[in-house]
Amino acid sequence: MAARPCIFLDRDGTLVEDKGYVHRVEDLVVLPHVQAGLARLKTAGFLLIVVTNQSGVARGLYPESAVHAFHAALNQQLGAAAAIDAFYYCPYHVDGVVAEFARESPLRKPDIGMFEAARGDHEIDVELSYMIGDRELDVEFARRAGLRPVLLEGGATPRRAGLSDVKPALGHEAPSDAGPALCRDPASASLEPAAVMPRGAAPANKRSVLLARDMEDAAEQIFADAHS
Ligand SMILES: [Mg+2]
Repeated sequence: MAARPCIFLDRDGTLVEDKGYVHRVEDLVVLPHVQAGLARLKTAGFLLIVVTNQSGVARGLYPESAVHAFHAALNQQLGAAAAIDAFYYCPYHVDGVVAEFARESPLRKPDIGMFEAARGDHEIDVELSYMIGDRELDVEFARRAGLRPVLLEGGATPRRAGLSDVKPALGHEAPSDAGPALCRDPASASLEPAAVMPRGAAPANKRSVLLARDMEDAAEQIFADAHS
């Protein structure tokens, strides 16, 4: 199977309103222009893959089942034409209170464990792929992974601090169609730290950051960039 270009996507503040540890389905608000922008990217042949830090799990604020339910509801709201193909999340945090998740993990952005996991699960043409997010953390993740970064600015959520929150972590879900995402047991994933590229070993990406107003604008800019 030919490798496909992929759009990696941050979740909170990028796809949905970032209310701080948002996890209840009733609090899920898809941001303006997201559905249309994702549909355009999907139609153009991009895989859509979410990579999201969910330290709320480690902090005991909500269980993994809430993350799965949230992602299923997100895909339901997006509809088949804009559905996320796979969700990866990191439930770990070094300051967690839930013993199982209270540790560092290479899955936690800006480390690229979630990127490596996705690349293990899908044939991805990294050269032609992008990472869209709303924080410097996402730009750093993109750079380490060799993806072209797209930074959303002027979004519906206030700009937050960048790299204050850089402890690594892990966990992810298997690909899904428009239906509920199936979660793969993080422990079964081949995500040992040794499997993760050391910092500096990721392909250098000298391309500059694309700035976009919203997801539709991001799609426009990606199309322009891909054809330049
Ligand atoms: Mg975000």
